[in-house]
Amino acid sequence: MTDAILVLNAGSSSIKFELFSVNGDDPESRLEGQMEGIGASPRLIARDARRQVLADHRWAGPDVADHATALRVMGQELAPAVEGYRIVAVGHRVVHGGPDFAAPVIVDDGMMDRLRALAPLAPLHQPHNLAGIAAARAALPGVPQVACFDTSFHRTHAWEADTFALPPEFYDRGIRRYGFHGLSYEYIAANLAEEEPALAAGRVVVAHLGNGSSLCAIRNGRSVDSTMGFTALDGVPMGTRCGQIDPGVLLHLMQAEGMDAAALQKLLYGNAGLKGMSGISQDVRDLEASGEPRAAGALAYYVWRVRREIGALAAALGGIDALVFTAGIGENARNLRARICDGLDFLGIAVDPERNAANAPEISSPGARTRVLVRPTDEEGMIARHVLALLQRSQNA
Ligand code: ADP
Repeated sequence: MTDAILVLNAGSSSIKFELFSVNGDDPESRLEGQMEGIGASPRLIARDARRQVLADHRWAGPDVADHATALRVMGQELAPAVEGYRIVAVGHRVVHGGPDFAAPVIVDDGMMDRLRALAPLAPLHQPHNLAGIAAARAALPGVPQVACFDTSFHRTHAWEADTFALPPEFYDRGIRRYGFHGLSYEYIAANLAEEEPALAAGRVVVAHLGNGSSLCAIRNGRSVDSTMGFTALDGVPMGTRCGQIDPGVLLHLMQAEGMDAAALQKLLYGNAGLKGMSGISQDVRDLEASGEPRAAGALAYYVWRVRREIGALAAALGGIDALVFTAGIGENARNLRARICDGLDFLGIAVDPERNAANAPEISSPGARTRVLVRPTDEEGMIARHVLALLQRSQNA
């Protein structure tokens, strides 16, 4: 039997999973996939490390009604594929670790209570993440469950980058800039430290541009500031989220237009950003293919705001040695990358058109003062590394 780590990322109606074997120090991906449409139109897709489809099944909604059932069904369907692997730990992506959790933790009953107490800080995500942990604890009793937080990497922020301009009691009550996408930033920082140690020791701005988008300023491997704040709404616009918005707009919508909290939540999380602005799609590919002025407008706004934040984070770092693009848009949307970098020559940023068109790992022009890199992110891989390190520490203790 080969020891393996299972990584789970449980959302409202989906569970993404990836299985890593752990022969040695570096976890190796063996299979991955997701159960989506839980409770509505459940579908399980799994692929092996060579992207060959291992399973593709659909069920009626009531047959896979919750996370616990989803996990059980996944276990049954994938049993032949995972034969020969012994799951020694499960790593969970958990969106919120609050002010205290700066590193992954093993989840027991007491820890479950502490993580549940953080749910009001991330009501759209945390309860589902915890449902995934509860389901995995029930399905694999005795197997350590490790929570890895999207907020942990940002706990190195100075107070100025962590607070809002409110009386201090708000900060004490947890109204802070937590920052998110931390597992992605940590992965990029760790890989940079291996590949380009001199650069990793310097001032790096990472642009994680996907359906959710944010940017992070990193100095010597540690997060200095990030565009996301109390929630994952702040910063740059996203697929369906608004990004930075004058809080006065919200007051106006409530007072003058009678919108309540539920209506605002729906607007800001689900019907804003690229989708809301264009009225067409949240997908950059659709917007680039569309001839509609509203699609072009949404992309122009996205480019503008990302460029602004690169400047702001470079200022937070006192300069910039490298800009790293990652996630779906960052890794693939060459036109947007070029447009974002256009006008940043004052920061020593210049993009080589051919390298950029090829999605090359380095897209800066030869001789440019600031390196511009494109790197795939791997949040699941980062979780697996964390879990393995934690297991090794507890074995050595
Ligand atoms: P998530 O946050 O859901 O993980 P991803 O990181 O997968 O999102 O990013 C999804 C975004 O990446 C979509 O807007 C999609 O249009 C964009 N994207 C993916 N591939 C391409 C491509 N080849 N060209 C332009 N945009 C792309």
